[in-house]
Amino acid sequence: MSAKTLVIVGNGMAANRVLEQLGIDHPFDAIHVLSDEAIHHYNRIMLSPLLAQETTLEAITPHNALWYQQRHIQIHLNAAVDHIDTQTRHITTVTGEQFPYTALVLATGSRSSIPPLPGLEHKPANVLGFRTMTDVDAMLAASGKIQHATVIGAGLLGVEAAVGLKSQGINVTLMHRNPVLMNRQLDATASGILQRDLESRGVDVRTGVNPLNIDSDATTGLATAIHYEDRADKSPHTLNTDLIVFATGIIPNAEQAKAAGLEVGRGIKVNSRMHATAANTYSLGECCEFEGATYGLVAPIWEQAKTLAHELLRYKHYDHDAQHIPAALESEHQPKHYCEQDHLTKLKVSGVDMHSMGRYEPEDSDEVMDLQDLAAGVYKKLVINNNRIVGVLCVGDVLDSGWYFDLLCQQADISDLRTNLLFGKAWCEDVA
Ligand SMILES: Cc1cc2nc3c(=O)[nH]c(=O)nc-3n(C[C@H](O)[C@H](O)[C@H](O)COP(=O)(O)OP(=O)(O)OC[C@H]3O[C@@H](n4cnc5c(N)ncnc54)[C@H](O)[C@@H]3O)c2cc1C
Repeated sequence: MSAKTLVIVGNGMAANRVLEQLGIDHPFDAIHVLSDEAIHHYNRIMLSPLLAQETTLEAITPHNALWYQQRHIQIHLNAAVDHIDTQTRHITTVTGEQFPYTALVLATGSRSSIPPLPGLEHKPANVLGFRTMTDVDAMLAASGKIQHATVIGAGLLGVEAAVGLKSQGINVTLMHRNPVLMNRQLDATASGILQRDLESRGVDVRTGVNPLNIDSDATTGLATAIHYEDRADKSPHTLNTDLIVFATGIIPNAEQAKAAGLEVGRGIKVNSRMHATAANTYSLGECCEFEGATYGLVAPIWEQAKTLAHELLRYKHYDHDAQHIPAALESEHQPKHYCEQDHLTKLKVSGVDMHSMGRYEPEDSDEVMDLQDLAAGVYKKLVINNNRIVGVLCVGDVLDSGWYFDLLCQQADISDLRTNLLFGKAWCEDVA
């Protein structure tokens, strides 16, 4: 009988969660994981605390060599995959190495989206994204050598980058297009609390601005200034800076899949079993697209990994001659189906607790309950529809956010809790 080989392209969060879920007794004779990064898998989420020097690379590297060895997993570093042949079922790296596969998982994630501003054509070395350990290394290397950094985009990543750089003793300006910081997670009140906190740390926050173009030094090629406009009055401004970090969104890495003839929209299209549109080919994580959605947080990816691992375990029934899993065995191993769920988003900045979930801006038929002690930096907001929680913001006091999240996910009727709901679970239970 021929060997069953699983090839995984990408060694990030999604790939490693699939490997964890597959366990030691998986049905593959060999698993090859190909990574275009130079170092072993690390917890990407923890790059923010790493930049703030609150943790170390070792502490955020979850698996050691023995862990991979026990699972028959070979990691190939600096092995960017260039070509996928779904007919002959093998992939080729940029260095020409070939890997045949029985099953293929594309977990290539995404990359920072840096807008094509005039002045960036020559890719100045001090203009970065915030995605990889290489980006963090470059930021840490700048520390002590530069005076000022500009972070463009105040979503979750931009805020964390600004705080991390500031903690290196660098003066930081954080620019955001929207008047509301982290506007995909926060409303104006919560954003106000965040802005005050950032300013109290010494971060210069400029909202409602658009970057226009970048100046570079003719000799070094390094960026030296950014020109931007105030969106309200179109007034032009210039800011001298030594480092520019873009946190303005992500682009799924789906080019190789597209070239291989797989269906690709914004990401690699998958069905609810994480199948892409070629035989024995799967995708998950930030490179995939499911029912029009793409991803930027790990919570949905953990669910995808569970679904996919379950699917891959079916390969114990794989028929090599027929090159598929016999349909007769389907009933023995019922597939799992991935579906979209609500998620809780947390800002990872020491001293600023902010949790957001669901529809935090009310729609027409919603009601809002809120509690504010802005001087203390505490703000709780519950968006309710038909006696069900549909959205929550917890700022400054996040003790009960997990409980609110459970109530939201369960669509629990909160009629009996209404008077005390904002004060939290303990209060509701005490008076019950
Ligand atoms: C600084 C930072 C903080 C974050 N904080 C949070 C948070 O608090 N909460 C949260 O939910 N999410 C957070 N995220 C997002 C989270 O990290 C991502 O959702 C998650 O990493 C996606 O996992 P993935 O495996 O799809 O992609 P990745 O983890 O990016 O892994 C993809 C891997 O594939 C490799 N690759 C790409 N193309 C190729 C190729 N052709 N050949 C070989 N290898 C290739 C990439 O280099 C990468 O190693 C954060 C992200 C960053 C950058």
